[in-house]
Amino acid sequence: MARYDVIVIGGGHAGAEAAALAARVGARVLLITHNLDTIGQMSCNPAIGGIAKGTVVREVDALGGIMGGATDRARIQFRMLNRSKGPAVWAPRAQCDRKLYRHAVRSLLERRPSLELVQGDVASIGVSGLRVDGIVTTAGRRYDAPAIVVTAGTFMRGTIHIGTSMRIPAGRAGEAPANAISQAFDVLGLTLHRFKTGTPPRIDGRSVDFSRLARQDGDPGAYWFSFHERAEHPPQLPCHLTHTDALLRAIVERHLGESALYGGAISSRGPRYCPSIEDKIVKFPDAERHQVFLEPEGLDTSELYVNGLSTSLPPDIQLEMLRSVRGLERVEMTSPGYAIEYDYIPPTQLGPTLEAKAVRGLFLAGQVNGTTGYEEAAGQGALAGLNAAALALDREPVVFGRAQAYIGVLADDLVTKGVDEPYRLFTSRAEYRLLLRQDNALRRLLPLAERLGVLSNSELRNAHERLAREERVAELAGETTIAPAGANPILEKACAEPLRAAACVAELVKRPGVSLAALLLSAGAENPILADECEWAEIELKYEGYLTRERAQAERLLELEHFPLPVDLSYGELHSVSFEAREKLSSIRPSTLGQAGRIPGVSPSDLQAVVSALVRARRSGVSRETELDSTARTCPVESSRPQAY
Ligand code: FAD
Repeated sequence: MARYDVIVIGGGHAGAEAAALAARVGARVLLITHNLDTIGQMSCNPAIGGIAKGTVVREVDALGGIMGGATDRARIQFRMLNRSKGPAVWAPRAQCDRKLYRHAVRSLLERRPSLELVQGDVASIGVSGLRVDGIVTTAGRRYDAPAIVVTAGTFMRGTIHIGTSMRIPAGRAGEAPANAISQAFDVLGLTLHRFKTGTPPRIDGRSVDFSRLARQDGDPGAYWFSFHERAEHPPQLPCHLTHTDALLRAIVERHLGESALYGGAISSRGPRYCPSIEDKIVKFPDAERHQVFLEPEGLDTSELYVNGLSTSLPPDIQLEMLRSVRGLERVEMTSPGYAIEYDYIPPTQLGPTLEAKAVRGLFLAGQVNGTTGYEEAAGQGALAGLNAAALALDREPVVFGRAQAYIGVLADDLVTKGVDEPYRLFTSRAEYRLLLRQDNALRRLLPLAERLGVLSNSELRNAHERLAREERVAELAGETTIAPAGANPILEKACAEPLRAAACVAELVKRPGVSLAALLLSAGAENPILADECEWAEIELKYEGYLTRERAQAERLLELEHFPLPVDLSYGELHSVSFEAREKLSSIRPSTLGQAGRIPGVSPSDLQAVVSALVRARRSGVSRETELDSTARTCPVESSRPQAY
């Protein structure tokens, strides 16, 4: 019997980060997964990043996680999405070579000396009292640890559906499901529900007529997701864009009853924002066409991922559908699309560290918490891994604030509001999205990384030097004046009013479309100025007013977050709190007033009533909270209620 500090079950995107970060904290970690060769496997599209998700990748990287570095090693096309919009929604996204990505994840994990990788199927989780103490595999091997992170993805009682008659027990195509571990959750008393998701067919690129498609190339400039390492990038490959038309619509409409989803084989809910082609045809009857992106699966294969045509129709109908699309008239399908149903654990059963409320030491992360997406899984994995290690090593738990990181928004949404469909991150889920940018993830999280001791000395030194260089650029902008002759060509390019007299660069850059690097270079400032170091300074200067306002609002949110609620508070007895709020507060048991305020159905007057009850209880000596009375009297419930989404 082997003993560890932390055991991570699953080698997907949540499991990899949980194991890497627990090991970085100093824990002795075991990552056990079905197959060591599928560590870091991308179950669906071969791409990392995107809106809000790209920022999570950088947050995980800032803490020493691996997704950013693996993406840099495997990316075969990079684009910064939303460049023409405000920086709050800039979104780095990379197409990846599936094989290179897997290799990168595994080799980055193997860099951690205190982390062991083992192959096995976990059948049960041992508990003693209400605390986990180990796991047992289906082969009967036992491993002990005081903290266990479950990241089983879509594998728990997974069932693949293709058409209405094909049902295959599977965690994803070609891989067995994990049924015993679902039963283990039943035994532990946790409730399980079911969701579904789907994936499109893959095709052979040699059978595609690319001359009929629009080519889409990556961005030419340099970009690394990782703040800590500048790995060499593979060469970039193009993607291609085509569209469905009336022909495909007619095929789908004719065969709708044969789809697993519409023929009645599946009843659980799927991700609204990754709809199947059947969903798109039914829900958008007036849309004449839908986009289809052909994305390369890798450098050494001609296989393409057909982004936009997720389906659970029978394979022969999938082929007919594909061949109705411009450029795909003679296409060969290498594997059909499918839908998959799986168990997840409604995440209101977890606390803010992603530890199960009912079982000490049991942490859950990734798709098992009702989310969808690699990045959402990675962010939760990082949080759960840090906290599992903290518990095992007797350190302070780690919780991210909503104004501190998208990981904080994600975790708080999950445990406070729960999910009624697979949860995906969007920028609109964050109240303070101008503060939560991809460019400043290191700046936001370096103090925490330093406190946790998760970065090496050289990583810390490089990180501090990078932030200092960014600050130096901002100072330089404040110290530099530019003459009209130098500024006007730049202003003209941005369609801005020309200058008549010399002006300060820090002021001029506030004008829309005016580049800080261009102004500084034209004014003869130090050379070279690196684009990504200029980015932070430019955004801070351009959006100074908005940022100041958001920071002030975030400060007020913190006041609520620091107002603790006793875990044993009898909400049912608080009759001045509405019935709905009493029910929700009793079941979710928020740990702070801020969290309570975000529970749907809990109003500001409910919060006020809770505070008054606590003050009264304190006065009569019932409450065990020592600091409560004075905090409660000053708690600004009304003015500080977090903004609605
Ligand atoms: P996974 O990546 O699924 O990893 C789970 C790991 O746990 C695997 O390594 C597995 O072998 C291991 N495991 C499970 N049980 C055990 C056990 N008992 N013992 C040992 N090891 C175990 N996301 C999107 O954003 N958009 C999409 O369109 C999309 N479509 C998808 C389509 C399909 C068919 C699938 C399967 C997934 C799709 N996803 C999509 C989701 C995305 O793949 C997941 O969100 C992401 O992979 C979740 O990461 P994870 O680490 O939670 O789980």
